[in-house]
Amino acid sequence: MLIPNRLKEHFKIACQNEDGTIISGRIKCCMNSDFAIWTVGDIRKRLFKKLDIYPLNNQLKLVAECTTCKKRIIVFDSLCDGYEPLSAGIQSTSISGPLHCEKCGAEGFSVQVRYEYPSEEELRELGISHIDTAFTWIWGTLICNTCGKHYTNFLDCETD
Ligand SMILES: [Zn+2]
Ligand SMILES: [Zn+2]
Repeated sequence: MLIPNRLKEHFKIACQNEDGTIISGRIKCCMNSDFAIWTVGDIRKRLFKKLDIYPLNNQLKLVAECTTCKKRIIVFDSLCDGYEPLSAGIQSTSISGPLHCEKCGAEGFSVQVRYEYPSEEELRELGISHIDTAFTWIWGTLICNTCGKHYTNFLDCETD
């Protein structure tokens, strides 16, 4: 299964396509899988639009902090994910949060993610050593665990 190694213990698969290059599921930890969301990025709300996050100083990061055990799970970090991460020379921007639900103000979310990878064969041919983080696209949806509001594809990012 292609999934970032750091998520292996914290990923509940929902579905994947035949060759395993598109995989979706949700982040899990402890009983409730309830997370505070911390981000590096520019969160924008446009009229009649959902909430979206965009890179800030060329960095986009989403961290899910388990509200039970406080473990911080890195769902996405543009500085180290992708087949050719461009972390050199980019200063890490400080993380902000936790995110509040804009409808009810709560801080606990469920996190659904979908990763798209090139074929594993292709990655091996290219000699990529970090196949697990060499995905080309990530989508992340947040669901408020208090009021149920969906933030569909809050994170929608093509990697470098
Ligand atoms: Zn936990
Ligand atoms: Zn809510």
